[in-house]
Amino acid sequence: MERIYMDHSATSPVSEQALEAMLPWFREEFGNPSAIYSYGQTGKNVLEDCRKRMAACLGALQTEIFFTSGGTESDNWVIRGACRARGGRGRHIIASAIEHNAVLRTLAQMEQEGFEVTYLRPDARGQITPDQLEAAVRPDTILISIMLANNVVGTVLDIPALSRVAAAHRIWFHTDAVQAVGHIPVRVRQLGVDFLSLSAHKFGGPKGVGALYCRLPNRLPPILTGGGQEKELRSGTENIPGIVGMTTALEESVRELPEESARLESMRDRLIRGACGIPGVALTGDPERRLPGFASFVVEGIGHSAHLVNALNERGICVSSGSACSAASREASHVLLALGYDHKSASGSLRVTLGRGNTPEQVERLLSLLPDVIAELRLEAKKEPVVAFGRRDRELGEDE
Ligand code: PLP
Repeated sequence: MERIYMDHSATSPVSEQALEAMLPWFREEFGNPSAIYSYGQTGKNVLEDCRKRMAACLGALQTEIFFTSGGTESDNWVIRGACRARGGRGRHIIASAIEHNAVLRTLAQMEQEGFEVTYLRPDARGQITPDQLEAAVRPDTILISIMLANNVVGTVLDIPALSRVAAAHRIWFHTDAVQAVGHIPVRVRQLGVDFLSLSAHKFGGPKGVGALYCRLPNRLPPILTGGGQEKELRSGTENIPGIVGMTTALEESVRELPEESARLESMRDRLIRGACGIPGVALTGDPERRLPGFASFVVEGIGHSAHLVNALNERGICVSSGSACSAASREASHVLLALGYDHKSASGSLRVTLGRGNTPEQVERLLSLLPDVIAELRLEAKKEPVVAFGRRDRELGEDE
């Protein structure tokens, strides 16, 4: 049976080019960039070369790019750093209610430490308006964190309009662009942000490496202290192979973006049209402002969405119920609840995210399977809702 991977927003395969570029940095050129002999110097040189190339892809300066272990660390760094740097000035933060848990759970910790957070609820499409943000601003607001693209419904938010509100009040503005970088054009000056998080494994780079764009590098204190790497701001021996892989993958994505996003959009739109033709299936997120390969739905009457993910997996197709992080959880996605779905509809969510390896034929295969799979699950859910739920959960190993 052909295995079809359609969960690219959870993670993507490392591109051939990125892999090839990484290999010498594991084998021949494995030196620590902090060393002064030749191995170290070669590492140091490639590190700065990557920083320059990453900056060029994002329209930033080389001095504004800092390498991290991924999106989670970048998000943590901005939030914890901002609270430390500006906590004396004010203790209020604004974020959207649909942020990734890397932001939300970090904010929850900050709340325990005496900060106050206003969570903005988006409209049904996942959008937040500048007026809404303006109304939430207080004299003691020190940080606003609103994502560029959502990882559950694929909505692309209007960050240039939102960051203008922050700039008018001189409030630091951070955007989690983990789902956006490599998929839509991302230029930091056009976005008008002070900080931007990104992660390599979402655009054909390896896992465990990312970056933080900092317009104000000297104002954000480190959260990782140690050997003083990254200009004393992020200690830890640099992940040279990972950084080389990330840089190569980002350049490749940016180069291919116009053609690839048109290809993905056409497959996505076909998928949306086909799936929404099935009674009781509806699109979630913004119908217009959404990521190119991102289709997300709620499916009525199937019980928990894990049933649908499991049934498609048995037929060789890997999709998701929402974000990878909540895949094993029975809880409905906080994003869908914030968009106004009730628990019942939100628990029947389906996310199909297309990438470089997908073809129109694969989309047709999914569409040919969906009506029968959904009909079967609805029948089962109707017949024995409680028994069916329990049995399938055990199959999924969710009880452990
Ligand atoms: N932010 C968003 C929007 C994400 O989708 C993810 C990963 O799914 C992260 C942050 C975390 O990134 P990483 O896996 O690199 O830690």
